[in-house]
Amino acid sequence: MKRFILACFVFLITTDLLAMEYLLKIPQHSDRQLQILQDQYLFRLRFRTKDFALIQSEKISSEAEVLDQISPDFNYYILATQDSDRVFADVKESKVLERFNGFVLIKLHIVFEPMLFNLTSHCAKLPIEIQLPYNPVGLAPRLAVTPEPYQETIRSLLRQLDASAWFDKVRALVENEDLQRPGHFFRSRYALRVYDAKQYDDSAPPDYACDNAADWIASQFESYGLAVEFDSFQHTRSSIGKGVLGEYTMRNVVATLLGKGANSDEIYLVTGHYDSIASKTDRWEQDWKILPAPGASDNASGIATMIEAARFLSQIDLNRTIRFVAFSGEELFLHGSRHYRQLIQARGDKVIGVINLDMVGHDGGGELDLHVLGDQQSQWLVKACQTVAARYDIEVDLRLKNDPSFIFSDHSPFWEIAIPAIQVSEESSLTDPTESIEYIHSEFDVLDMITVPLGMLALKLTVATVAELAGPSGEEFIFEPQPDSPIIRNLIVYPNPVNLQKSQFVVLDFYLTRPAEVQVTIHSSSAEHIFTSQPFSGGIGRNSDFGWRGKNMSGARVASGVYTCSVTATDEDHNSHVVESKVVLIQ
Ligand SMILES: [Zn+2]
Repeated sequence: MKRFILACFVFLITTDLLAMEYLLKIPQHSDRQLQILQDQYLFRLRFRTKDFALIQSEKISSEAEVLDQISPDFNYYILATQDSDRVFADVKESKVLERFNGFVLIKLHIVFEPMLFNLTSHCAKLPIEIQLPYNPVGLAPRLAVTPEPYQETIRSLLRQLDASAWFDKVRALVENEDLQRPGHFFRSRYALRVYDAKQYDDSAPPDYACDNAADWIASQFESYGLAVEFDSFQHTRSSIGKGVLGEYTMRNVVATLLGKGANSDEIYLVTGHYDSIASKTDRWEQDWKILPAPGASDNASGIATMIEAARFLSQIDLNRTIRFVAFSGEELFLHGSRHYRQLIQARGDKVIGVINLDMVGHDGGGELDLHVLGDQQSQWLVKACQTVAARYDIEVDLRLKNDPSFIFSDHSPFWEIAIPAIQVSEESSLTDPTESIEYIHSEFDVLDMITVPLGMLALKLTVATVAELAGPSGEEFIFEPQPDSPIIRNLIVYPNPVNLQKSQFVVLDFYLTRPAEVQVTIHSSSAEHIFTSQPFSGGIGRNSDFGWRGKNMSGARVASGVYTCSVTATDEDHNSHVVESKVVLIQ
């Protein structure tokens, strides 16, 4: 059925209009199918839910719905429906392009973007481009059964975790005591309150409340012997009609725990944002320089969890490298994590997974539930959390989710470059009213909101999962090999149906889990042998170089009809696996 849908779509996306680009809505396919469509039609994937995908393309198909014509002066945003009313009251030019599950997709001139920073609930800027993962789902690593002595080491760490030490760190971040003037408390970590701030309006420069928190976080990491760096970036604040109001240098805090094993070049990130906002407070836009934004659960809780995890993990020798990254500017459309994503991309850092902690401190329903959310490619990390919780008897009510539309925190910039990333949080829904968190982004996100047992469960889960993923320094390989796994899988034949008057050949696209010798055989619907290829070697990963020209062994074109393509892969141990797919040939 899936293949049938794919075939229809392939046939329909052919109308060339002017060389304009459009924002199009297409029915959702799996990542794998989107990838194949993308190879053929070179569109940009910009967003996907389980029901639809938004793509940017020059071509329009009859299956695709045209939402908009792309214009450089406009951006697209996703926000809660109730918030959109406020935007539309203020900005006549804004336009709703799509409504889904309590959210709207809007188009807004870029000069109006700053007003979205003051909205009260989830709001996200549509990614410019989402790279689809290279690996098909299901081939991701699974957690190994780590050696028993190492498990005992982890158990011992878990026994030492200390609720009051965790809570003290939440308190320190909420109070944010001035490091230069003890006894003076900022009670805000709003991202614009930095040392290096230039105000172009007549107003006074802000204080350094946010930078003070960054310095404090750095000092904690340093006290555990970790190497700490600041990753700085600029943010420009503009106002409608008034132009640039100010420029601010924000800082991510990056602490590295170097792996000591054979895989120390492989990096896991533990992330969270330390900036806070209180945009629900009256006069926030005018008075952000002085208003409190305590951000106890959002996200002092996540940063305290990260710091405590660093404290305990730095006591053992790990195989892989862990980086703890505290982002700023999250509340300003993921500014810090987008910047850091560019940095690791430019350097070619081998980041294999990201665990983002955002709001793990408040338990509204008394269920001690934590939501672990990933997109399709990140499900192995989601499952790793589940495996670890069971292995170490962590009594948490885990809610596992696969939702590529949840792009409202610092995990999502990593999805855009196909790095597996999960978010661990007290909530994870766009729509569930029981999860709508009234107190966040207000002056009421205070220490009284903190449920220490929930924070401790998040800390246990983080420590044990990271320790398992990173592995002990003596072990070269911690992921469980999958001896029974098929050598070959995911055969897709395209175009299908294929008209060989129009296409030169039909492509056989498949995935190898290990190097193998490959051979392709074609049979007719009456099981008559038509064609066998020369054996050729295939590498691990996706293989799409083989094309069948619709000819038999003597080079003659075969008749129109249904044919079965069989691809046999044989590994070096002489194990063979076969995958098959039918193709409809029109000569
Ligand atoms: Zn947050």
